[in-house]
Amino acid sequence: QLPLSVPVTLPNGTTYEQPTGLFIDGEFVPSRQHKTFEVINPSTEEEILHVYEAREDDVDIAVAAAKKAFDNGWSTADPVFRSQCLYKLAELIENNAETLAGIESLDNGKSLFCSRADVALVSKYLKSCAGWSDKIFGRVIDTGSDHFSYTKREPLGVCGQIIPWNFPLLMWSWKVGPALATGNTVVLKPAEATPLSALFASKLVQKAGIPKGVVNIVPGFGKIVGERLCTHPDIKKVAFTGSTATGRHIMKTAADTVKKVTLELGGKSPNIVFADADLDKAVKNIAFGIFFNSGEVCCAGSRVYVQDTVYEEVLQKFKEYTESLKVGNPFDEGVFQGAQTSQMQIDKILDYVNVGTQEGARVVTGGERDGDKGYFVKPTIFADVKEDMRIVKEEIFGPIVTVSKFSTVDEVISMANDSEYGLAAGIHTKDVNKAVDVSNRIKAGTVWVNTYNDFHQSVPFGGFGQSGIGREMGAEALDNYTQTKAVRMSI
Ligand code: NAD
Repeated sequence: QLPLSVPVTLPNGTTYEQPTGLFIDGEFVPSRQHKTFEVINPSTEEEILHVYEAREDDVDIAVAAAKKAFDNGWSTADPVFRSQCLYKLAELIENNAETLAGIESLDNGKSLFCSRADVALVSKYLKSCAGWSDKIFGRVIDTGSDHFSYTKREPLGVCGQIIPWNFPLLMWSWKVGPALATGNTVVLKPAEATPLSALFASKLVQKAGIPKGVVNIVPGFGKIVGERLCTHPDIKKVAFTGSTATGRHIMKTAADTVKKVTLELGGKSPNIVFADADLDKAVKNIAFGIFFNSGEVCCAGSRVYVQDTVYEEVLQKFKEYTESLKVGNPFDEGVFQGAQTSQMQIDKILDYVNVGTQEGARVVTGGERDGDKGYFVKPTIFADVKEDMRIVKEEIFGPIVTVSKFSTVDEVISMANDSEYGLAAGIHTKDVNKAVDVSNRIKAGTVWVNTYNDFHQSVPFGGFGQSGIGREMGAEALDNYTQTKAVRMSI
């Protein structure tokens, strides 16, 4: 039988205790059927360990624990108590930041540079949520002197949360933080490829004094655990981040019990460089926009558009800068891009390289695996692309970018908006009027001007079009986890 905690030594020599059980009702427990699944280190393709695999019956137990915690006090607790719990959790994340960054790099393959950035945003975001707990306000509505009418915002109940493998801990915080701040309880399924940080964070949930059953973690597979979260009658809301295909399916499945659904899905985001931009800075931003987190970013700026008069210059600078980025062991200082997260993912990326080449696009740099062990891919730039090519239309979710040429503002706006997605966009220009005009006309949930992949805990994030429903972070995230009750009294 698998022990509930095993020592793991990170490649940098640090040893820590990794929980392997499901986290239900405040305790780590084996799954009912004692099934386990393997967790792989993407940098070595070797097994790290096994963790217990939840099944439907485990989900049912977790939901019952979450419902009990909701009914027995968490939802009606003094909001200051919820705030203190979240703040304490944020401090514990900070105290364990290096271990958590190491776990994330081990499990996901991302460079320490990326994992450290994730962990820093996690603690800031949890603090921000802690600050919201006692600021969930309703309204008094003047409806004449014979009635008193007011609204309040109440929590939804037990929330099912399903997260992907590209930002395991960050997505955990974007889901758990606002749900808890507003008095909900959660049953969260990490991605099967990356369950480790959510389990380690559960130890911190215990230490933070968060009552039993408020947070439950059920590692397992989408088709089993994910489906059960979407059909369970006691789950009132499903919050999902992942592919648009799975998001569509989740919406349909959750419809039978009319659950509220928020979705943060895929993208194919345009990143536009105008001739008047600071070109050196723009080149760094377009590289950061696509190669950060090994390109496994839903809002990656995967379609770059460069104005014709500076096209060749930008392409040359982009090639040189890209070739200067260090790819390799995520634990080596100075490495920018680590491994892709799974065999499936690297296969998909290399397939797209073939698709692009067959479609007639030109590989400017990269286009192949890096090394023969581990899921490493060279950052890849495609030029000479046509807008109807699959590499321009479809989300690749890897370090692959296409570069297209445009001449006028109207032309680039129509190219940028020619997508079923609408998650993010980038604009690089020194002209404020142009920045505002183009920001207004781009169909995307986030527009970055002279920056990219630049997140702040107070700024909402989410998609237009098929990139999703609802917003995470900022005040908007609280709307996802509250419902309005109207009270009208005759006096
Ligand atoms: P996915 O959408 O299938 O998985 C994301 C999460 O959903 C995982 O936790 C998974 O277990 C769960 N899931 C899968 N099937 C489910 C179901 N039927 N019901 C409920 N939950 C289910 O993504 P993937 O297969 O891991 O990756 C496929 C592609 O999705 C990637 O190549 C990438 O293009 C995209 N993706 C996007 C994001 C994003 O943030 N937008 C994140 C991850 C993956």
